[in-house]
Amino acid sequence: MTRKMKCFVMHRIGEVGMTEKPIPRAGPNDAIIRTSAALICTSDTHTVAGAIGDRHGLTLGHEAVGVIHELGELAAASGLFRIGRHVAVGAITPCCTCDNCQHGYPSQCGGMLGGWKFANVKDGSFAEYFHVNNAAANLAPIPRRSVVGLRTRHPLQFRQQSLDLSLQVGILYDARRTGVLCAHG
Ligand SMILES: [Zn+2]
Ligand SMILES: [Zn+2]
Repeated sequence: MTRKMKCFVMHRIGEVGMTEKPIPRAGPNDAIIRTSAALICTSDTHTVAGAIGDRHGLTLGHEAVGVIHELGELAAASGLFRIGRHVAVGAITPCCTCDNCQHGYPSQCGGMLGGWKFANVKDGSFAEYFHVNNAAANLAPIPRRSVVGLRTRHPLQFRQQSLDLSLQVGILYDARRTGVLCAHG
């Protein structure tokens, strides 16, 4: 049976909530990340407000850190990462193989999954697990303590919102209440 995970999704413009989806699997070049912390960006709030149209059922979030849960065979063969490694994942995930990437313009990536795809055309990181394309190019190793620091030392207000307590998800607000979301898996 396919294992399920909890996700925070956009149900329709102006409406969000928790749901369950199958845990994604890695293709040869990909990684599956078990989310440690995921921060909200104003792009998420704009998306929920309808800036890029209805994204019914799409998992939100595109800035996260986590632990490598699964590596595709080619990503593993790169020798750069191993399962269990703590990593940060950028919001933009260029393929690093297309012409634009190879000429130094990864922000103009023309690869099928390259560019800004999280919470745009593929599921994002407000979930227990999320999929990263071209993992060898899009994962950055980080020390484990940097994740712990985010959990325990962030001097911000913490407020549980209409999110699932079992996923230990909440909203962190700074002094200006701009809203920084922290999702602890
Ligand atoms: Zn962002
Ligand atoms: Zn590319």
